Amino acid sequence: MEYSHIARESLGFFPTPLVALSKLSQKLDGPTIFMKRDDNTGLALGGNKTRKLEFIIGDALAKGADTIITAGAAQSNHCRQTAAAAASLGLECHLVLGGKEPEQASGNLLLDKIFGCHIHWAGANRKGEDIPDIVEQLITQGKKPYVVPYGGSNELGALAFVEAYKELESQRKSMNLSFTHIIFASSSGGTQAGLMLGKKSFNSHSPCQIVGINIDKGETDKVPFNQYTLSLANRTAKLIGADYEFSESDLILNADYVGEGYGVIGALENEAIALTAQTEGILLDPVYTGRAMGGLIDMIRTGVIKKTDSVLFWHTGGAPALFSYSNDLDIAQKF
Ligand SMILES: *Cc1c(COP(=O)(O)O)cnc(C)c1O
Repeated sequence: MEYSHIARESLGFFPTPLVALSKLSQKLDGPTIFMKRDDNTGLALGGNKTRKLEFIIGDALAKGADTIITAGAAQSNHCRQTAAAAASLGLECHLVLGGKEPEQASGNLLLDKIFGCHIHWAGANRKGEDIPDIVEQLITQGKKPYVVPYGGSNELGALAFVEAYKELESQRKSMNLSFTHIIFASSSGGTQAGLMLGKKSFNSHSPCQIVGINIDKGETDKVPFNQYTLSLANRTAKLIGADYEFSESDLILNADYVGEGYGVIGALENEAIALTAQTEGILLDPVYTGRAMGGLIDMIRTGVIKKTDSVLFWHTGGAPALFSYSNDLDIAQKF
């Protein structure tokens, strides 16, 4: 396995903290719970996309790009971190956002605007379907555009989570911990593909399960998530010369908590957000980590995860979106 030749641009502060959530664990009468704080990556309020962007923007710079273009939902954390990375490097940034322009910009969208990027409203095309046309226009204008894939989930984005797994391993060993489950929100697949490959590369005999909680009912690049994630893990293995072929049985993607779909906040997310905030003083987000923590809480209550287990919850960021979901948040809950 070899990837030191792959370009990388430093954008965040690593390693991110690994902390015990002993009060949450006690409240749930559950297993030991640790949290990997990628909400603290340091780039414009943090999140898991900072890791991916170090490799993807590194590639863009190596290829001589002067303009970055990517896509996402109006409250995309990926777009906000991309906008910040571009600003920090003097690159022009174009965001292709789903839906139509809201009357008032809040949350991530407000931050996108502060970073001075160009926003293209794409209606129902929230996964970058309009990018090729915009790229063509930019080239006509003499720009050198570089397309960052949806969610930063290509081989370079996944490679960042191979590295992240290595970072976790070093912390886990020095703190003398072991985990039975690593649980996180999975949406465009890069985080999960990278963690799967990281485990295979650095800790292959561990029984620890890599469990993605599915956030979105849809698909990535018109391919069902599980197939996309599996194929991404295999393509990333090839990129780094690792001799692995993952199969369907290696992928644990739990779709029990997608509820009404992407960004639709219900009781599950609300309880997880309030409980984590009120026991640990930690903010989750409504779309991703609130849903994933809701899934973890449910798995603890239903005995899928036992008291004797030891769980790592990977906090992938996203709290800026809280400010645009105030109508859906149940702030009266007390624990
Ligand atoms: C993008 C994102 C995820 C999902 O990561 P993928 O690699 O796209 O699966 C999870 N949580 C937050 C907060 C995100 O912004």
